[in-house]
Amino acid sequence: MADCKGKHKNSSKCSYSVYRCKACGNQGCHSLDTEGCTNQGFKGAPPVCKKCGKSGQNQKIP
Ligand SMILES: [Zn+2]
Ligand SMILES: [Zn+2]
Repeated sequence: MADCKGKHKNSSKCSYSVYRCKACGNQGCHSLDTEGCTNQGFKGAPPVCKKCGKSGQNQKIP
């Protein structure tokens, strides 16, 4: 599975799983922290795409 290459606010490396949005193709990790990672693509629960705003469209990238 793909690991996120972004960084968190405290400069630690993010290693969350990366997801792809089935609706718009946006890719990024999913964090419950709304500004947790520079490469964050989804936020909240259920996951909402930060690009198109749709929920439940995230698909884990193998
Ligand atoms: Zn991340
Ligand atoms: Zn999207």
